[in-house]
Amino acid sequence: MIPATSMEPRPRDDELARSWARAIARTSYVSMSREELVTHLEQPARRLIAALAADDYDPRVPTEVGAGLVAAHFTHPSSLQRTLAVLGAQLAPAALAGQRLARLGELQGAVAAGYTQAMQDRALHEQEQIRTAVMDARAEADRARWASEARFQALFAEAAVGIGIATVDGRVIEVNRALCDMFGYSAEEMIEHVVADFVHPDDAPDVWRTYDDLATGRRDHFRMDKAYYRSDGQKIWTDLVVSLIRSQDGVPLFVVAMVEDITDRQRLQTQLRHQASHDPLTDLPNRTLFYDRLNAMLTDPPPGARVGLCYLDLDGFKAINDTFGHDVGDELLRTVAGRLAARLADDGHLVARTGGDEFVVLIGGSSGTQGLVAVAETALAAVRAPLDLDGHAIEISASLGLVERAATATTAAELMKAADTTLYWAKADGRDRWALFDTERYARDVSRYRLTSQLPEALAQGQFFLEYQPLVSLRDGTLTGVEALVRWRHPELGVLGPDQFIGLAEETGLIVALGRWVLGEACQQGQRWRVTHPHRDLLISVNLAVRQVRDPAIVTTVTEILDGSGLDPRWLQLELTESAVMATSGQPLQTLHALADLGARIAIDDFGTGYSNLAYLRDLPVGTLKLAGSFIAGLRHADRPDRVDREILSTLVRLAHTLDMTVTAEGVETADQADALRRLGCDTAQGWHYAAAGPAQSVTALLTR
Ligand code: C2E
Ligand code: CA
Ligand code: CA
Repeated sequence: MIPATSMEPRPRDDELARSWARAIARTSYVSMSREELVTHLEQPARRLIAALAADDYDPRVPTEVGAGLVAAHFTHPSSLQRTLAVLGAQLAPAALAGQRLARLGELQGAVAAGYTQAMQDRALHEQEQIRTAVMDARAEADRARWASEARFQALFAEAAVGIGIATVDGRVIEVNRALCDMFGYSAEEMIEHVVADFVHPDDAPDVWRTYDDLATGRRDHFRMDKAYYRSDGQKIWTDLVVSLIRSQDGVPLFVVAMVEDITDRQRLQTQLRHQASHDPLTDLPNRTLFYDRLNAMLTDPPPGARVGLCYLDLDGFKAINDTFGHDVGDELLRTVAGRLAARLADDGHLVARTGGDEFVVLIGGSSGTQGLVAVAETALAAVRAPLDLDGHAIEISASLGLVERAATATTAAELMKAADTTLYWAKADGRDRWALFDTERYARDVSRYRLTSQLPEALAQGQFFLEYQPLVSLRDGTLTGVEALVRWRHPELGVLGPDQFIGLAEETGLIVALGRWVLGEACQQGQRWRVTHPHRDLLISVNLAVRQVRDPAIVTTVTEILDGSGLDPRWLQLELTESAVMATSGQPLQTLHALADLGARIAIDDFGTGYSNLAYLRDLPVGTLKLAGSFIAGLRHADRPDRVDREILSTLVRLAHTLDMTVTAEGVETADQADALRRLGCDTAQGWHYAAAGPAQSVTALLTR
């Protein structure tokens, strides 16, 4: 070995460090200032200089210096390159001088080797780091997925809502506890089934189509209320949400069903709906439900469809209620309702309670009045069966109005109005019966109603007028009097006879005012005839209705009218029917006496049609018997007269004469009748054989002749 001598120029480590620092400063990103770098490089510079000069060269020093560069993050390839260049340039003179150029080469090589090795180590380390980082990351992801799955599992298992997963062909593959509880099966039991096993027949009809749409991927979810069977056979109602799970490429895989038990809610709703449409007392359908059904039948009915209804009202229910109390009344309604429903509702008819003691049976699929009448008979029988209510044996009946017609031609309002009118007929015809709607009777009712409402106006407007029909002496054919008969010149209907409006005027009470007008008019005309024909005895006969006789003011009215017209009371005859005289005792009899006391003559009209009790009339101030036309009809043919009628008439006439009454025969139409009546001893006659009723002038003409 060659020993180092003091003559060798020895490089300065600080200069090397400075040059080195300058060369590599910008080659890599290192967070050191230039001064710090110089300081950092002084030690390796010193070690390299020492290694170059040392007698026993240690290659570990330059190797470590090379690695140190990497450790200090001078990792760019130019860092090494420049380092080697600086070392060459700075150390070459000393190496030359000490003949150690070879060692310098060796040293540079070792620096490069150390550097490269360090670089390799570092790459490996980094790879390892990345690998572990990746491993760590993967482990973390697994953990996260596991956590989310656990969360899902917990949710699925513990959810209050039932969840089931099935394959698209309906095989149940997973269910949670809530679903098991809801259906009353264990999870294992449920998984053995297919979805269809739980389906209740109360399904909405389009469920399966909807489900099919989902299973085949035409839709992704649906929601509906749906009924299922529980394991114990009970029905449950659910709010069902079904979603489809597809594979990544869109193929339907699973069906997830979220099932909420809404049986209680449904039950409450059903209960509320029931309450809104049923009568609380009888639990029958109420008005609302009845009208809903009826309107449904009348809206777009199939061709030929008919509708029939039976409107039922109990007879005398109010009296039972008042007599036995409301509890018994309620019990009665419940019993009747129960019977009607039991005997009729099963046949597809709707039995509803529409009001207090009113029920209605709506016929399902009516085929004509025959079926309707059968229903009515059944209903009548059901009501008639005796009842034992609270110890009271009660019998009750009902009246029924029946209407049956084509569904296209009517409305609910029309039907009910017709049924109401028809029910009224059943009541008016005597109760405990049915009446069937009849268009003609209804039209009559309607026109009667219209006429009734027009009566007061007609009187005020002077639409009434009188005709007079002669009363003729059977002995010599002379005119002895006239009967005043009222007519109504109706603005639209023409002249109406009294049969068309006197009854209406009696019902409404207008007869009192109308009768007063007739009396006044007849008395004035009578007085005119007295004035123009003072030597002719002419009785003015005026009809008095029952209502008029009962009017407390009648005597005053007659008095005032006689005074007003100036007619002597002995020329006035008042015609009263037997019922007006005999119906009630007391007041009318006093009235009769008072009227007779005025000086007017009293005639009994239509004798023979009512009570025909002559003995009763004996004590009354009656001057004339007017024999009803129906009696006289039997005398029409002289060759074969009705022997019995003739006997009766003969007896009547004799009795009347014994009681000082004169006898007038009404409705004398033929000469034969007139002859027969004359032979029987009748005093006066009235009828078309002599003259029909006519205007006052026609009587004036007779008087003048
Ligand atoms: P009534 O008092 O029995 O009057 C006689 C009815 O017989 C009249 O009918 C008359 O036209 C009709 N008649 C007369 N001759 C014959 C005949 O030969 N054959 C037949 N078949 N009939 C004959 P009208 O005018 O239609 O009167 C009907 C009823 O109306 C009367 O029956 C009377 O009860 C009532 N009435 C008429 N005017 C009044 C009135 O001013 N007040 C009241 N309260 N009732 C009246
Ligand atoms: Ca009369
Ligand atoms: Ca009469």
